[in-house]
Amino acid sequence: MSPLSSERFGLLAAVLVLGATVARPQSPPAFVVTNVRVADGTGAPLRTANVRTAGDAIVSVGPAAPQPGDEIVDGTGLVLAPGFIDVHNHSTEGLATDREAASQISQGITTVLVGPDGSSPTSIAEYLAARRANPATVNVATLVGHATVRQQVMGEDFRRTATPAEVEQMALLVDRAMLEGALGLSSGLEYVVGSYASTDEVVALATAAAKRGGIYISHIRDEADRTIDAVRETIEIGARARLPVQITHIKLGTVGVWGKAAEVAAIVEAARRQGIDVMADAYPYLAWQSNLKVLVPNKQYKDPASVKEALDDVGGGKNIQFTRLARYPQYVGKRLSEAAQAEGLSEVDFFIRIADDEVGIIGHTMSEPDLRTFYQQPWVMVASDGGVNNSHPRGAGTFPRVLGRFVREQQWLSLPEAIRKMTSLPAARLGLTDRGRIAVGAKADLVLFDPATIIDRSTFEAPRELSQGVRIVWVNGEPVWRDGRPTAARPGRVLVR
Ligand SMILES: [Zn+2]
Repeated sequence: MSPLSSERFGLLAAVLVLGATVARPQSPPAFVVTNVRVADGTGAPLRTANVRTAGDAIVSVGPAAPQPGDEIVDGTGLVLAPGFIDVHNHSTEGLATDREAASQISQGITTVLVGPDGSSPTSIAEYLAARRANPATVNVATLVGHATVRQQVMGEDFRRTATPAEVEQMALLVDRAMLEGALGLSSGLEYVVGSYASTDEVVALATAAAKRGGIYISHIRDEADRTIDAVRETIEIGARARLPVQITHIKLGTVGVWGKAAEVAAIVEAARRQGIDVMADAYPYLAWQSNLKVLVPNKQYKDPASVKEALDDVGGGKNIQFTRLARYPQYVGKRLSEAAQAEGLSEVDFFIRIADDEVGIIGHTMSEPDLRTFYQQPWVMVASDGGVNNSHPRGAGTFPRVLGRFVREQQWLSLPEAIRKMTSLPAARLGLTDRGRIAVGAKADLVLFDPATIIDRSTFEAPRELSQGVRIVWVNGEPVWRDGRPTAARPGRVLVR
């Protein structure tokens, strides 16, 4: 049964006051999308069919005619796909403040996995209870964050290797989070808290997740010159902890490793042939978003030689764009090279001047051939690394961008294969057995879109512009996006294994 939306509740209250006999609808109305090309999520070729939903489920796929009372949606010329499942989503807090999540549903996203990069709610139970109490438009599942449990155990004294007793405590916290509904462990080994962890520590925590059927999704230790070492570490963690592992937002972010996507893919393929279940996800942009400090792997933020090397690695300050710079708000949106010039400083000296500030940046530092090579691997899925209220265009544009630019315009991959990377592949990864496919009995999370016009409109200058081409999005059988705007429905559920 669907949650009682506030609108329905109001209707129910009015009905009760009037003493009428009209019952509250027990479930969403039945829909039939007729004459639509179906991308069923498996990668199979498109086929034309009528797809009927009743309640929260898909009840027929084929030639069946609509039944009396069905709402008929003409799907002529359109494609119907399972709702998109985003396995790297930063809406952890945003789902509380923006339950409508228009930037997500307008892309066709129907399920978000939050708690990425090692950072999750401290109490998984409380977080999921709050989502159940106040549902959003989208379904939500969460990971438990490595850095979150590390700080719970080590407090502010985290700049060191953890003791065996501390690791044991962390593993207990991971176990509890898994029992409370987390789908696995996330890490951000490039970030301040996670970077001090040994591989053994991560293996211990991943083992705790594995015991409860979890997965391990990692922002790996290095996405620059030592990417390949970091990929190997992720594979090692999967082999030793015996669980599925995922390199999230896989990328090659420095000049020194550009062009090595095929090499990385070969390493992953070799591991997969040995039975290690390693996969990856990628966002469809050639730029990343983080903080200034990640540019300097040796953490010598005030050492001119280290800073120079860091800037050289990304092709210079012209490839670094500020998103947050409290001391110099006039440079937000500008490049580091421009800011340095305006201040009459070298790029290195300007970097050192702001090194202690909270500085958000976008690094325009990836190469398109690498992105294409990654997307053409069958074990790479689409994920946004975005979320509601994101200041990177991926927050509002990821899925339509893949379908519009990389499928329709550049033909990197077929439409059914792209849909598979957005639906059944992530669903299987998360153990969501009743989502990610258009099949009888599957949950009615669906996206109806126009393959000829679907496109992202968000840019680095206007990151929140909504995408175009998505006509209707259903979550658990209820339309949440229709006629270019969100509906009042909030049918999103908490998904646990
Ligand atoms: Zn990340």
